[in-house]
Amino acid sequence: MTGDVWEVVIGLEVHVQLRTRTKAFCDCLTAFGGAPNTRTCPVCLALPGALPVLNGRAVELAATAALALGCTVHEESVFARKNYFYPDLPKGYQISQFDRPLATNGRVTFRGQDGQPRVVGIDRVHMEEDAGKSIHDRYPGLTAIDLNRAGTPLIEIVTAPDLRHSTDAGVFLRQLKRTVEYLDVSDANMEEGSLRVDANVSVRAKGAVEYGTKTEIKNMNSFSSVERAIDVEHARQSRILADGGRVRQETLLWDAARQDVRPARSKEESHDYRYFPDPDLPPLLLTPEWIATRRDALPELPNERRARFVAAYGLPETDAEVLTASRNVAEYFEQVARAHGDGKAAANWVVGEVQAALNTLGVDITHLPVTPESLASLLDMVRGGTISNTAAKRVFALMLTTAEAPRILAEREGLLLVNDDATLRQWVDAVCATSPDEIRRLRAGERKLLGVLVGQVMKTSGGRADPRKVSALLAAMATDTSAFKP
Ligand code: ADP
Ligand code: ZN
Ligand code: MG
Repeated sequence: MTGDVWEVVIGLEVHVQLRTRTKAFCDCLTAFGGAPNTRTCPVCLALPGALPVLNGRAVELAATAALALGCTVHEESVFARKNYFYPDLPKGYQISQFDRPLATNGRVTFRGQDGQPRVVGIDRVHMEEDAGKSIHDRYPGLTAIDLNRAGTPLIEIVTAPDLRHSTDAGVFLRQLKRTVEYLDVSDANMEEGSLRVDANVSVRAKGAVEYGTKTEIKNMNSFSSVERAIDVEHARQSRILADGGRVRQETLLWDAARQDVRPARSKEESHDYRYFPDPDLPPLLLTPEWIATRRDALPELPNERRARFVAAYGLPETDAEVLTASRNVAEYFEQVARAHGDGKAAANWVVGEVQAALNTLGVDITHLPVTPESLASLLDMVRGGTISNTAAKRVFALMLTTAEAPRILAEREGLLLVNDDATLRQWVDAVCATSPDEIRRLRAGERKLLGVLVGQVMKTSGGRADPRKVSALLAAMATDTSAFKP
């Protein structure tokens, strides 16, 4: 195995589109889609004389993300021009930040695939604007340009080269996505390109201190393809080194169809960006009070929430993980737990039936037809013994198609448990008559037969008997010899 001899070293550069209504330096809308080149103006089209004006909301979101990643947000940062030529870059430069970024020196902890905690340094978080899109499949032999995306605000998050496994990169990225979603900073949607990842990869002999030469892989469109690309590059570089060769520093593109990396054409690989401070934009100045306010406003983050769910509700880690996968699921669960009172039961249902329903319906939990309150009242019925857990699942399925209250549905479907003594005794008597031997052994002290007999009564009742009461009746019978005569 290459991994045993040649260790992989990974650093990630993640671009996250900020969820602002308008672009970073003009009033054009940022919404995904729209007829090509309709969401543009002299500023984002780079017409002569047009001047950028910084979007304050973008700064708020960028600072929020940086603080959540443990970074120091600087009171002064500087916008710089990153110069390169590409058809979808109208100004011939991208407004970015270079030697004075918004934020530096953060850290993120996450749990590795082996369950052990890992720490990843965050070198920097800086603000920049997005480029437009080159569309290669619209006109045969031609490239079309859509500048709707040009000028959309982004942050770039640069990690230290601290990751040592492709799977850790995947876990880190999923957590990062979850974090920016929790913060409401971004949609973080890889398919729509609002979260994009470049992976820097090098390989060194296990135990070596120096890093090897890195390559940079671009063009992955899912977290699993990031992991796959790192594995492929790990193997490629290991083979080169094992053969006594040297890795060439270059930019590679992930080719999903071939599941392989290939060198980028030279125009996709830019070396000299000739950065300099943008003379059209003054330095970005933030007061310590402003930064403190943003820090205080940070919501509970996924890691903290997961730990709280484990501690407060006594949930297993795996359930807490599922329940914090998205902020909406976490909030739904907590509303059920609060309304019903039993967090464990609420968790079982949200992890089980609710997730299954979401998968079947293909909807987000905010569109689930069952409100947290009505799920809680269904769980109240189970706890109160008016309905069995199995029958509750049938009621839940009905609740997905109607807004009627669970109690009404259970009644109409004949799913309420019978717990009046006379009826229960009839069923118990019937079982006594057909299983005299088991009854005798129960009364002789074979307690384990209780479960068997409860099961028989449940069967006789067509599942409608309240099992707790049946159990109590049978137990009383086992000790009170005058109660029944088999
Ligand atoms: P560059 O000068 O090429 O831009 P940086 O030092 O700015 O390199 O780092 C860019 C990214 O590459 C960061 O995510 C960093 O962690 C990662 N990186 C740097 N050196 C290595 C290495 N030897 N192996 C893997 N990743 C690396
Ligand atoms: Zn514009
Ligand atoms: Mg760099």
